[in-house]
Amino acid sequence: MKAAVFKAGRSSPGKFLEIEDIARPPVRTGFLLLRVLACGVCRTDLHIVEGDLPAIRPQLVPGHQIVGEVIEGATAELKAGARAGVSWMGDVDGQCWFCRHGMENLCDNPVFTGYTVDGGYAEYALVRSDFAFPLPQELDDVHAAPLLCAGIIGFRSLRVAEVQRGERIGLFGFGSSASLAIQVLRSWKCEVYVVTRGEAHRRRAAELGAKWVGSEDERPPATLDRAITFAPSGKVVVDALASLRRGGVVAVNAIHLDQMPAFDYDKLLWGERQIRSVANMTRQDARDFMKVAAEIGIRPKVKIFSLNDANQALLAIKNETEEGSAVIVP
Ligand SMILES: [Zn+2]
Ligand SMILES: [Zn+2]
Repeated sequence: MKAAVFKAGRSSPGKFLEIEDIARPPVRTGFLLLRVLACGVCRTDLHIVEGDLPAIRPQLVPGHQIVGEVIEGATAELKAGARAGVSWMGDVDGQCWFCRHGMENLCDNPVFTGYTVDGGYAEYALVRSDFAFPLPQELDDVHAAPLLCAGIIGFRSLRVAEVQRGERIGLFGFGSSASLAIQVLRSWKCEVYVVTRGEAHRRRAAELGAKWVGSEDERPPATLDRAITFAPSGKVVVDALASLRRGGVVAVNAIHLDQMPAFDYDKLLWGERQIRSVANMTRQDARDFMKVAAEIGIRPKVKIFSLNDANQALLAIKNETEEGSAVIVP
């Protein structure tokens, strides 16, 4: 099969991956062989091929937003020919304290699709059948793909922030994840206040129904019940905290923050305000979000690349040249 392959230590700017013919993975018990119909390109993929995340294997097929057709290994839920979605969580041990307490997103021994194991930048992908889920008819292949990471994690952030219908919510930063989360918030009749850099992002936030949109040095004109931060900046977390009512929550949707600046506990955190991080996702988050996405008709903007152009797709993320989400169609 044709695949875009990352070789640790041999990737260079603009030529992160090599397009090669590699063996199609043989199907094993408990796995599905998918013919890849579309695979979304995530900023995490760029972190992997640029070495920001340490290489786990010498050779890897990236890609963790896979829409595929079941070819072998069909199950009662995912029959041969059905469409399946696969995201970042590829497997867990099922036995650690976190798995036994309903927190599989925090598992001691997680497997990440397109990082620990090969992912979807290929014509076929082998995935755990119990970590694949059916996709609603309403979503076509290329528009479902970007929902499978940015969408699910954005949705989990709303859960971590404990958002209630009709509340006032702040979104700090407005990339792919926030542009999907706001569509869920609007369907819940929340008032959304967006603080973000960049004129294009502010315009998009207004189009998607934000009640108020401001630049990074402006503050929402109302006290927020909850806030979600998407920027990898500790200063933004403190800014969000400063707009929060007593008992409110800031959920931090970032794997990495530059640093947390010192802040005034008495003014900003006292009063049972909380700061919580958002880590990975559970299978239930994935299933619940895809259902909501179909019901409310979420449709991300996409830019399609062929598998041969996988490097260009990664460059588009790096240089932020596309307004929509990059999707590879093999
Ligand atoms: Zn576990
Ligand atoms: Zn991702």
